[in-house]
Amino acid sequence: MNSIGTFGASRYALRDLQLFRDADDPAVTAALAPCALIRVAAGQRVEDGLRARLYIVLSGTLEVAPDSHSASDNDGEGGLTRVFPGESVGEQAVLDDAVNLAAMTALEDCELLVIEPELVWQLIDRSNVLARNLLRLLSFRVRATNAQLRRRQKLGEFYRQLSLNDALTGLYNRAWLNEMLPKLAMRAHQDGSPLAVIMIDLDHFKRFNDTHGHIAGDAALAAAASVIRDSLRPSDFAVRYGGEELLAVLPDTHLGLAEMVAERLAERLRAAMVFPDMRMPMPHITGSFGVAVLGSGGDEYALVAAADAALYRAKQAGRDRVSV
Ligand code: GH3
Ligand code: MG
Ligand code: MG
Repeated sequence: MNSIGTFGASRYALRDLQLFRDADDPAVTAALAPCALIRVAAGQRVEDGLRARLYIVLSGTLEVAPDSHSASDNDGEGGLTRVFPGESVGEQAVLDDAVNLAAMTALEDCELLVIEPELVWQLIDRSNVLARNLLRLLSFRVRATNAQLRRRQKLGEFYRQLSLNDALTGLYNRAWLNEMLPKLAMRAHQDGSPLAVIMIDLDHFKRFNDTHGHIAGDAALAAAASVIRDSLRPSDFAVRYGGEELLAVLPDTHLGLAEMVAERLAERLRAAMVFPDMRMPMPHITGSFGVAVLGSGGDEYALVAAADAALYRAKQAGRDRVSV
């Protein structure tokens, strides 16, 4: 770290430094006068050895990457902070007497004021205004960090949501089902409440694709999914189980009621228009429905298997119908 002079002999004044705002009494000015100024060329890192120092940017811009001990920062926000003239970096390292692990790089040619930790402490002892400025700065940093954490948390929830929903239909996907069905089954056993599922498979969907094309097939599938979702209670769940197989999960629902719900779904699907806004023959879609409830000693696998078996019977009996 090559000193290019001292603060006292430079063209910079104390009042330009954020941390020393309103603290420019003669004692502070005198204490800072011998502090070293360094120059860092654009693109170069600030080599700060192994001790915590306070740096104040006098000219140019520094980019500070968070220290390597902090959590991952590859989340788009990057965690990079720019430090502009008058602002400081390293005060936290000085306060907790830690090595400054943050990587500092000059974005453009910089002049920095370097203040050794002993002097920082002396100045804090001497100047209430400086201590207050420092507290304010730290408080601001804590707030900024909290806000960043909240943003990351929201982003995490967003991605989690994405990973649990099916892109084409917007319904929950298999990953969601694998996570949630065991929990719903366990809760049903604990509470002694019934848990019903309805397995739905669109009829002759291969033929639909062959006749109308795969794109139209996708639209029909999405339309069917909307019909199912919109026909359920808010406490029920609609899942895309596989290709054109959907599953409705109905907590707190007996077999008889689930069967009625399935009949209603079948009717609405039959009546649904796949392409309400296109001038083409309206292809109607139908589905076959298999209903089952969680057995007293059964698990979620047995529940889905029972619904699958019922669905098979509905297909065998001629499709477009409900079977239990
Ligand atoms: P069945 O009445 O016996 O159910 O006849 P099916 O033709 O519907 O049954 P099958 O399981 O033989 O075929 C399902 C078809 O669903 C085949 C596949 O191309 C289509 N399919 C599955 N997923 C999608 C999808 O995401 N988009 C489209 N367009 N078609 C799909
Ligand atoms: Mg199928
Ligand atoms: Mg099918």
